Formats: sequence, structure tokens, C-alpha cells
Amino acid sequence: MKTLGLLGGMSWESTAVYYRLLNQGVSRRLGGLHSAPLRIASVDFAPVAQWQSAGQWAAAAQHLGALGSGLWRAGAQGLVLATNTMHKVADTIEAAAGLPLLHIADATGAAIRAAGLSRVGLLGTRFTMEDSTIVIDRLRQRSGLEVLVPPAADRARVHAVIYDELCRGVVSEASRQAFLGVIDRLAARGAQGVILGCTEISLLLDPARHAFPLFDSTALHAEAAVAWMLDEPTPTDRKPT
Ligand code: GLU
Repeated sequence: MKTLGLLGGMSWESTAVYYRLLNQGVSRRLGGLHSAPLRIASVDFAPVAQWQSAGQWAAAAQHLGALGSGLWRAGAQGLVLATNTMHKVADTIEAAAGLPLLHIADATGAAIRAAGLSRVGLLGTRFTMEDSTIVIDRLRQRSGLEVLVPPAADRARVHAVIYDELCRGVVSEASRQAFLGVIDRLAARGAQGVILGCTEISLLLDPARHAFPLFDSTALHAEAAVAWMLDEPTPTDRKPT
């Protein structure tokens, strides 16, 4: 089994989910007392969030790159960045760490293609929804998907719930209903499914409880990472049809 480096804390609420899913994935496959060999670097999210809102992506990239390099020195053989938004600087982190990075958009896109869908909505931070270089371009180019984002008022609400509630461990029914409204409006515009493209959204919405296809980037990313650790063919090995 390969050792995975998990670069998280963005926020720690979703990193805790990754930790559980990675261990459960290995345990499910290997049984017994098997669990996932991990190296974890978990940041203080407050300065990272400040760099994001100030547009100081280079500072964030430098900080995360140094942590990625530490994961390499600690024995990690590959890297998972436990956030969609910070994939904005994934290339810099990958280069600084000197480790292959398992991209969250590839894991998500492959699952959507495997489900036979081609047009999906995207929920995430305003950065992820408004800056196509984070995941949207990659979903289009590598997975051949058409990606719809919510209108401005919906984007603002989703972004606020992520930072003001989910990243602080607050899960509210009012916000769940608000997210379902955003999803309904994306479906009315032709989305065949919706990407939960922020790693905390699964705290609010469980795809298994909804008939409409919801693609949880956290679970799909963790699943792809488990496959990589165990040298299984990963969903991202498949080319879009
Ligand atoms: N975890 C979130 C994401 O997947 C948002 C927090 C962050 O900026 O990392 O985008």
C-alpha cells in the first residue's frame, strides 16, 4: 500500500471526513485491522482564508507548498489537497512537494461521466464558482462536462454558508433548504446533476438522501485516493467518452 499525504485543515471539519473515509476505504478492501498509511498536514485555516479573500494566492501557495514538501520528507508518496478552492494553486504545491497530486476535479469528473451525465451544476466557494481555473476548466477539458454555476445571489448565499457555518461546524436546516433551492434552480436550467464542489457541503447534504444526482467531491476524492494507494485502476484512468 502506498503512503498518502493529506494536506488539509481547509477547513478541519472536512479533513476529519477525509480521514474517516480514507481509513474506511482501506478497511473495506483489505479487512481485518488494515487502515490507511497517511501523513497529514493540517493548517490553521484563518490565515489561509485571509489570503483567499485578499487574492494573495501566491502567499497561500508558498505556505501549502512548504507543507507539501514536509509531507514528502515524512514519507508520503502522493498528495491529496483536501479542498476544492486551494486547487487554484495545485500546480505550485505539486511542484514544491515533488509529489504526484491527485486532483479533486479529475475524481469528481470521472464519477459524473461514469454516471452518464454531461451537464452539471457546481456549488462551492465563490472562488470555485467564479474562477474557472480552479476546477471548472479542468472538468470541461478532461471530463468533457458542461458546468453551470448559480446566479450571483445564490453564489453569495452558498459562499457565506460555507465560511460562516460549515467551516465552523454549524449545520442548519435553513441553510440546507437554501442549498436545495439553489440545486432546484440549477436543475430547472438543465443541470442533470450537481457537484458538491466544496469539501464541507457533505456536512449539510447527503447525496444518498436525494433522488437528484449529487456528486460529493470529498467522497469521490477520498475514493480515488484509496484506489491510488492500493494500486487499483482509478476512475480517473478512464477517458471521457
Ligand atoms: N473546503 C472548501 C473547498 O472545498 C472551502 C474552504 C477552502 O477554501 O478550502 O473549497
